[in-house]
Amino acid sequence: MPILVVGSLALDEVETPFGRRESALGGAAVYFGLAASYFTEVQLVGVVGRDFPQQHVDLLAARGIDLEGLKFVDGETFRWGGKYGYDFNARDTTFTHLGAFADFRPEIPERFRKTPNVFLANIDPRLQLDVLEQVERPNMTALDTMNYWIERTPNELRAALERVDILIINDAEARQLAGEPMLRRAAGRILEWGPELLVVKKGEDGAVTFSREGIFAVPGLPLDSIVDPTGAGDSFAGGFLGYLAATGDRSPDALRRATIYGSTMGSLCCEAFSTEKLVDLEPLEIEDRFQEYKRLTHFEYSPILLNA
Ligand code: AMP
Repeated sequence: MPILVVGSLALDEVETPFGRRESALGGAAVYFGLAASYFTEVQLVGVVGRDFPQQHVDLLAARGIDLEGLKFVDGETFRWGGKYGYDFNARDTTFTHLGAFADFRPEIPERFRKTPNVFLANIDPRLQLDVLEQVERPNMTALDTMNYWIERTPNELRAALERVDILIINDAEARQLAGEPMLRRAAGRILEWGPELLVVKKGEDGAVTFSREGIFAVPGLPLDSIVDPTGAGDSFAGGFLGYLAATGDRSPDALRRATIYGSTMGSLCCEAFSTEKLVDLEPLEIEDRFQEYKRLTHFEYSPILLNA
């Protein structure tokens, strides 16, 4: 079952203690689409300027991503800069040049309007609502957002949340959105607003999913080498939703496996700059990482007599 993603395509300038890249392929929809493409067919809707290199378009097409919804307009592609120190959970945004993205009005091609799965990457909630108006009753809708929209367009964001099944955000955003410092209570509040599932990403520390059935948590897998964590959150969403879209299964067990596939894609993304790792992964590499998470989290209960 295909998944439609609407969001940013970018040229990123990233600096980490291990090097830097300029005009690297980035953007939330790009990371999401590449990660999800290992699980299911991806349809992408976004905008770039005429400066967007053809090699990036070829790379997305080579992963089988349907680019009928990619618009080329006069002006520059969205550019974003980020800088990291050794604490990869903290980063400085060095610049954001919206360029063509400033006037982005998503137009969903006719062929994508009945797509059963939809991911609204981090964009203006008014545009997210606009996309929901254009699609025809999808089976699964998910949304990402950020502090900027939580602060500036809270009512529109709440309206969008009432209409989606899954919210995927990081822990600071979940607390800010709910106005509640305790994550579990924040999750309870958000789930009352509409989504049946809240996925909280915690960067290097893993992820937690909250639903009415309960909580599932996956720890962060200590990696041998983290090179560039940019896009890990969107890659997580790609693995998570890609798995759910591919299987059509939203049972509690499937949600657990999806959380592990999300973590798998997020962790693989960090092992190289930009999208370099995500463009030509071997399926076996993904399965190996999944199994590594299984070993990491598995334990047997063996009762002992505890002292009173
Ligand atoms: P992440 O590391 O998951 O937060 O994603 C980083 C990606 O998001 C980069 O490739 C950026 O180009 C893109 N990005 C950064 N800021 C924004 C924004 N305000 N709207 C949309 N995409 C953004």
